[in-house]
Amino acid sequence: MSNKKNFETLAVRTQSETTQFSEHSVPLYLTSGFVFDDAEEMRASFAEEKQRDLYSRYSNPNTNEFIEKVCLMEGAEAGFAFSSGMAAIFSTFGALLSAGDHVVSCSSVFGATHGLFTKYFPKWNINCSYFDVKDVDKIESLIQPTTKFIYAETPTNPGVDVLDLELLSSIAKKHGILLIIDNCFATPYLQQPIKFGADLVIHSATKLMDGQGRVMGGITVGNKELIREIYLFSRLTGPCMSPFNAWVLSKSLETLAVRADRHCDNALKLAEFLESHPKVKWVKYPFLKSHPQYEIAKKQMLKGGSIVAFEVEGGVEGGRNFFDNIKMCSLSANLGDTRTIVTHPASTTHAKVEAEVKLAVGITDGMVRCSLGLEHIDDIIADIKQALEA
Ligand SMILES: *Cc1c(COP(=O)(O)O)cnc(C)c1O
Repeated sequence: MSNKKNFETLAVRTQSETTQFSEHSVPLYLTSGFVFDDAEEMRASFAEEKQRDLYSRYSNPNTNEFIEKVCLMEGAEAGFAFSSGMAAIFSTFGALLSAGDHVVSCSSVFGATHGLFTKYFPKWNINCSYFDVKDVDKIESLIQPTTKFIYAETPTNPGVDVLDLELLSSIAKKHGILLIIDNCFATPYLQQPIKFGADLVIHSATKLMDGQGRVMGGITVGNKELIREIYLFSRLTGPCMSPFNAWVLSKSLETLAVRADRHCDNALKLAEFLESHPKVKWVKYPFLKSHPQYEIAKKQMLKGGSIVAFEVEGGVEGGRNFFDNIKMCSLSANLGDTRTIVTHPASTTHAKVEAEVKLAVGITDGMVRCSLGLEHIDDIIADIKQALEA
């Protein structure tokens, strides 16, 4: 399909070829292998002289469709789909890094990604240096001759800070290194990092891509040659996405834009409500004028995203009181669901992160991360208001 179509149309109309049954909705290809007509076809296929599916650890019609769709949405040349977001992150690192390499990462990254950097990288003699979201001027001084890439998420988790993608990419280009962005919080509907110069973009498809809290998935898209390296690594190591999950996720992408619009509208309304509430110490949302990187968010994002962070009065006690009084919203660590979720990062997702790192990435005792769902905004606000005032 032509690249000139609009985002929503690409999401709905990108489909695998119709079979002899003329189905309207894509079938589920639950098959581990594929058959060949003769010895020559088998040889040519394995020699990659012929492009076709061989084995579902390598590719499958359902995963191919999901990958093609995300590539069109992100403006990427190629991609590979994984069983989870962490499988995408780990396999991308595994394919690109060697012993002795160095990585520069934002300190505000997903907890498990941070765990890879601190627990497993040292074992393979890969070093990592961190920069603070508020201190991007420091990035250049961290780059070494062995630095392979800059890694970052924007908006960040859970502090919803915004990093300037154009700035990161100009630093990476100047030093001849790669820029890898985890675009999970924004989704390709709100932000396309490749447009701003990123080489690779990673997603946990488990979050807003599925958007309904059902299946796990991940994907890395971007530069063809780099994806080829990631594909070869993944062919051998087996972190592939299941055809079933790819089928679910490809369907989910058809509704991403309408869902994201509502998630974002609800998030902005909640953020504005919280800003005026006396029991709330501070609120962070990229499209609030009070957000420290509001101008950058406006430059690179279509809307502000589905996550709002705020701090309730009273520290740990205040936080616990708030969570214990929530009636409708879900207390969970997940995000990007139809249901509104409230999380306490200090005691859950970031409980294992050292105290000083926690503070540096903006996680305070009474901080709440709210992932806005698709319920009516009046009901969401009513629940959060009564919990604040209880
Ligand atoms: C959830 C998440 C991941 C990990 O994805 P899984 O699908 O849970 O493995 C990575 N990055 C970000 C920003 C996430 O929110």
